[in-house]
Amino acid sequence: MDLHKIKLTRYILIAMIGGALTGLVLSQFVDFAVNPETGNAILDSKNRPILEHSFLSDYVINGFFQFLSEAFIRSLTALVVPLVFVSLVCGTAAMDDVRKLGTVGLKTILLYLATTGIAISIAIIAALLIKPGLGVEEVEMQGYVPGETKSLLNVFINIFPRNVGESLVDGNMLQIIAASLVFGIALVVSGENGQRVLNFFKDMNEVIMKLVIIVMLMAPFGVFAKIAQVFAKEGFGTIFALAKYFVLVAIVLLIHAFVVYPTMLKIFTGLNPLVFFKKLRNAQLFAFSTASSNATIPVTLRAAEQRLGAHNKIASFTVPLGATINMDGTAIMQGVATVFIAQISGIDLSITQYLTVILAATMASIGTAGVPSAGLVMLTMVLGLVGLPPDKIGLIIGIDRLLDMIRTAVNITGDTTITCIVANSEGQLDKKVFNRPFEDEIVS
Ligand code: ASP
Repeated sequence: MDLHKIKLTRYILIAMIGGALTGLVLSQFVDFAVNPETGNAILDSKNRPILEHSFLSDYVINGFFQFLSEAFIRSLTALVVPLVFVSLVCGTAAMDDVRKLGTVGLKTILLYLATTGIAISIAIIAALLIKPGLGVEEVEMQGYVPGETKSLLNVFINIFPRNVGESLVDGNMLQIIAASLVFGIALVVSGENGQRVLNFFKDMNEVIMKLVIIVMLMAPFGVFAKIAQVFAKEGFGTIFALAKYFVLVAIVLLIHAFVVYPTMLKIFTGLNPLVFFKKLRNAQLFAFSTASSNATIPVTLRAAEQRLGAHNKIASFTVPLGATINMDGTAIMQGVATVFIAQISGIDLSITQYLTVILAATMASIGTAGVPSAGLVMLTMVLGLVGLPPDKIGLIIGIDRLLDMIRTAVNITGDTTITCIVANSEGQLDKKVFNRPFEDEIVS
């Protein structure tokens, strides 16, 4: 099979549109299960309404489509840990001066925190101006049980692995990053022995990158099935009731993605944002369909290195780190949601409370993995901090999936913007690669 000839982005786009249409049609033929005693929708473990049993729901939506989408997302996720570990070890070992790690690390983390702070501030200001919560009828979904929240101290303690095997098995990204960095440094200072091991890692890196390509071939099928499932299953009826909230979050997300990032890219690097977006589109589509920055790491990393020209020694660190700690899209949802819930509950928050929200959401994003719905769990903590009722999340959960998809695409766009900025500032961005004409081929 000639992998060079496959126009993957085009196929994924077609699959997305086809999936959405199929899902919308199917949604007309299925109903949500209702508890006959209370009349409330029955929710699954993730607080989403479940479908009534029927051939369509059991064998097509929750059967065949479930198989296709799970097979794709699992295969992609399966690559994340080996890819990050091997790639980051190679990246660290390639640093000519290990002390540079500190500067790169600090720069990256500060930029990530800054963009998240900007994102949530814009979101809060927009929500205060537009007031999405006023005049909203209660469309509350009963029975929402707020998830567990993490303490900030634990977030930081958790960076240190107790057992590296356990970190790898659990896919604990911050611990894996910490372990790979130290291992990479150890390889550099181990002379010939280290070099031999490093050569093995370099070969392994090439093999895993090829694996990424193979798994990407499943994307059109997986994306079709996932999107069809989402559109058939989610209670989008509530979008109309919450249209103001939905549209506001979506607009702020788009502003952040298409105004804030390109401006930063232009100012800090002088690179053309249009080229940037064109080359990142594939990764954005993956993020949108999987709603997981984490599962998208292999595709984001590929785009950053091979299409945008960021050197592996920068991208192998910034991309996985970003997928774990940098969630601007998520912060935007949280900013708007906090104001929305305050307005609905008739509670006026003070300036100090808004500042707390900005700080808390920015810090909380550090400890949350880039997986679907993670942002809602963090929102529980943010609401709790300013004394808002966490169970009000039940209001927005019905329409969160679609927003999750959009904000995940924004999240990885942020990771890649900062990757380019940091790489450029270190002289590690190959502008020839960045400006090379883009071809929609699986092997670029
Ligand atoms: N799904 C998002 C991500 O993976 C996190 C969230 O906002 O729920 O980046």
